[in-house]
Amino acid sequence: MSDDLLGELRRAASLVTDPDRVREASLDGRGRRQGRALAIVRPASTEETAEVLKICARHRARVIPQGGNTSNVEGATPDPDLTDREAARTILLQTHRLNRILEIDPVNNTAVVEAGVVLADLQRAAREAGRIFPLSLAAEGSARIGGVLATNAGGVHVLRYGSARSLVLGLEVVLADGRVLNLMRALRKDNSGYDLRDLFVGSEGTLGVITKAILKLEPAPRARRTLLLALGRLADVETLFTRLEAHCGPALEAFELIGRAPLETVLSAEGRTAPFELTDWTVLTDICTYGDTSDGQDDAREAALEDLLTDLMAAGAVTAGILSRSEADAQSLWALREGIPGAVKRAGGNVKHDVSVPRSRLVETIERTCALLTEHFPQCAPSIFGHYGDGNLHFNIGGVDSPAYAFEHEAQIRRIVHDAVLAAGGSIAAEHGVGAMKVAELERTKDAAELELMRALKRTLDPDGILNPGRVVRVEP
Ligand SMILES: Cc1cc2nc3c(=O)[nH]c(=O)nc-3n(C[C@H](O)[C@H](O)[C@H](O)COP(=O)(O)OP(=O)(O)OC[C@H]3O[C@@H](n4cnc5c(N)ncnc54)[C@H](O)[C@@H]3O)c2cc1C
Repeated sequence: MSDDLLGELRRAASLVTDPDRVREASLDGRGRRQGRALAIVRPASTEETAEVLKICARHRARVIPQGGNTSNVEGATPDPDLTDREAARTILLQTHRLNRILEIDPVNNTAVVEAGVVLADLQRAAREAGRIFPLSLAAEGSARIGGVLATNAGGVHVLRYGSARSLVLGLEVVLADGRVLNLMRALRKDNSGYDLRDLFVGSEGTLGVITKAILKLEPAPRARRTLLLALGRLADVETLFTRLEAHCGPALEAFELIGRAPLETVLSAEGRTAPFELTDWTVLTDICTYGDTSDGQDDAREAALEDLLTDLMAAGAVTAGILSRSEADAQSLWALREGIPGAVKRAGGNVKHDVSVPRSRLVETIERTCALLTEHFPQCAPSIFGHYGDGNLHFNIGGVDSPAYAFEHEAQIRRIVHDAVLAAGGSIAAEHGVGAMKVAELERTKDAAELELMRALKRTLDPDGILNPGRVVRVEP
């Protein structure tokens, strides 16, 4: 059986069966769960992808689409507990060879790309054309466009540009039976029927394999000022955000909140000293300017921003801060934020939550959840950071002496955090997706009608349940 499957796949596309490489690609992005698979298939075109899907459908083989394997929710790797028989019918489909940027259109402001293009490569190509592709996240050197779209990734510029879904115009998808769905329309307006494109964005490889996309580009800013500011107390984040937003309008492009614990972890991992006396909460924010300098307003804008910050410091909302003077300064400040996930992982990791609530309820949610956690688990150590501007936090929990403490109590900790978030009208999967990690929690917490409709869609598009089974929703084939 596996011999037939492998033989057919080998004729259709590049195939890797070396057990070490298959094993390596089957380890989840956090390095916590070792999955099992038979082989890796690496198609180099839509046609090859379609042929691979047809073969897998005939053999009822599971197909796990994989881009950069940066998933934080066990989305892109097979299950660890497959039987030998199941593992012998499980194929990782890597998009690495679908890696061409096919077109940059500076008039329509769009890029046509294959799904395996690395996010950072697209950002570079857009910059070379005098544009930006604004989606930016710490994993951008590894994450690939198909994965970014399949998880509806967010990142640090959602505040201004929205998440992946708002940056995609067209899509090409290979369905579970090998049919190619061509939705490659470079249109900003198209009301010709149901929006199938948006169904596949955020579907985490469970409804189809994305092979191409048409993405929106944006004008490049002329300059940005990055501010790192220490808050007097957590509640001051609301004052700072509302004052800055009123002052800058859409020029406020990122607004990140960072707790003391993750900031100290990254400072120590990178051998850097704190840029000022740290308080419990720090904000990192970007303010951009566009167009040429002919309006002569740069100096006035600068003075007004400095007045605003002086005012906030006088009120005690901000206790210290740094304002970047150059792009190199800005990058050095952002390196702190982007270094957090890697530094925490090297320090042993923690129990991760990726949650969102309305921005106006974030402060109360943090305070209430931290109080509940410490009451039940006195040795737990919250390590919170994330996209305050989007109401989205990485509400991660380690242990005072060792991360093992949090892992020991993982299920109960997860329940406390998720229940608090849901009570505040929030979501337990804000930007990383559901993967395998949150399926049970989704089943516990989602509205029954919504879950049933999701299952019905899955059954319609993948009746044999071969595409990334066990992710997002569980359905009996
Ligand atoms: C250090 C770090 C920082 C991060 N920061 C952020 C952040 O700020 N904001 C944010 O939103 N996310 C963040 N993430 C998560 C990250 O956005 C996603 O993991 C990433 O976008 C997925 O891309 P990938 O190519 O690695 O996909 P993979 O991890 O390989 O796959 C992710 C999911 O997409 C599916 N998939 C992959 N390719 C395809 C395809 N072509 N067709 C259909 N399905 C496919 C997989 O089956 C899987 O379900 C971060 C992750 C890390 C490790």
